[in-house]
Amino acid sequence: MLDLEIPKKFYITTPIYYTSGRFHLGHAYTTICADVFARYYRLVGSDVFFLTGTDEHGQKVEDAAKKEGILPKEFVDNLVSNAKQEWKSLDISYDAFIRTTDEKHISLVKEIASKMLENEDIYKGKYVGYYCKDCESFFTSKDIIKDKCPLGHNVKKETEEAYFFKISKYQKWLKQYILDNPKFLQTESNKNEILAFIDRGLEDLCISREKVGWGITLPFDENYTIYVWLDALFNYVSGIGGLDSDNFKKFWPPDFQVMGKEIFRFHAIYWPIFLKSLNLEIPKTEFAHGWWLSEGMKMSKSFNNVVYPLEYVKEYGSDIFRYYVIREISFGEDGSFSKKNFIERINSDLVANIGNLLSRVITLASKRNQETGYLFFRDESFVKEIENKIIIISKLYKNYELTKIINEIFQLSSLANKYVQGNKPWELLTEDPKKFDQVIYTLLETIRILAVELAPIFTTKWKEIFDQLGLDANNKDNLKLEFTNISEKRIVKKGNHLFKKQEIK
Ligand SMILES: [Zn+2]
Repeated sequence: MLDLEIPKKFYITTPIYYTSGRFHLGHAYTTICADVFARYYRLVGSDVFFLTGTDEHGQKVEDAAKKEGILPKEFVDNLVSNAKQEWKSLDISYDAFIRTTDEKHISLVKEIASKMLENEDIYKGKYVGYYCKDCESFFTSKDIIKDKCPLGHNVKKETEEAYFFKISKYQKWLKQYILDNPKFLQTESNKNEILAFIDRGLEDLCISREKVGWGITLPFDENYTIYVWLDALFNYVSGIGGLDSDNFKKFWPPDFQVMGKEIFRFHAIYWPIFLKSLNLEIPKTEFAHGWWLSEGMKMSKSFNNVVYPLEYVKEYGSDIFRYYVIREISFGEDGSFSKKNFIERINSDLVANIGNLLSRVITLASKRNQETGYLFFRDESFVKEIENKIIIISKLYKNYELTKIINEIFQLSSLANKYVQGNKPWELLTEDPKKFDQVIYTLLETIRILAVELAPIFTTKWKEIFDQLGLDANNKDNLKLEFTNISEKRIVKKGNHLFKKQEIK
């Protein structure tokens, strides 16, 4: 057995998405990335919990519902059923879908707010601030640039009595925690921004709103609703069943929380402080990925260049879309969606590399297939090379290096293509049939391993590969990430081309 250092449990989350319209590339990207990790860890035997959901409170939802002339709850119910449909089309394998309007979530948030008050981390004060509707956030005067929030939205100056959370009390602790736990905040550059932000001084956070009706009521003062971020962040607790649940005991803390960098600050500063206040364990890794441009430009409805995943899924299938978004952008960095690159990656990575390997090897294998089966011995030096890759890939998963994972998986295919080239099995077929069998067996096993490594990304294509290899995708023994000595005869079946060459339109 290869030692892949598999964690016993793996709790992974996406943020809960704001319910204000169709999902675009940004939502899909975060969720696909998380799905790949969840699927990999399930495959290698970890106990996985993958949580996603929707953030349904706040002024923006209330306004949008009013505009449509329906109740906020009705408005969010419609969006949630669309959201679930979209994730189904993208083959997202979440274990639970949490909604902040769920009863269990509402009662949990009230419970934690009361505890924070008991712990004397919440007090009543006067609030003067700038509210940004688009960010659902308050900003202080030092954040405001030319009357706009840091992201450039319009803000409104407001003064009211309000409740505050003592963020400043935890400033020293948080900084030390980040320094002592180098894996906690990723990427490095996002972490450095957070450290610089902390060094400028953390101010107490207003956690109540007087005027927003659509939200969770503060349990100790019914004139207020709870600030959306205090509400939203605790989805990660309610989503696995709440503080007293068996799942909480089993899965807490989250191992990997992935998000776009626009909300990193909330997860890197407020979230650990809230948890510290409640004496709960801090998540192991908060990871912020970069932003997508569309054809090199900012994605925006007004430029008419927003990428909607389902349009691509309809035309090319979810596998190719999932692959493209993971491959195109370096995990943690910004990148750009390009239709031309999308097509080129199909042709070069998928058709020419993986598709070609499969069809060559199956064609060769079928030449002796029917009469003799294989002598199941293997080419040890090549096996070593492949098993090294399996170990490298598992280490990369551990460090959340998604881009390198993809590169290494494709290296498996390139190595196999080279191995074909170097051994010229079409010549061995008549000159040295025994050696032919060895080479082909080694290649068939390599392709099986390649298919298993691809499975977290290509959620349907890997089964087509298994079909051609003559393997049962439901048999767990066939999913092992190591060279196996299979005693039964494998009858390969030549099938359709795995990927079709595409024209650039
Ligand atoms: Zn804003």
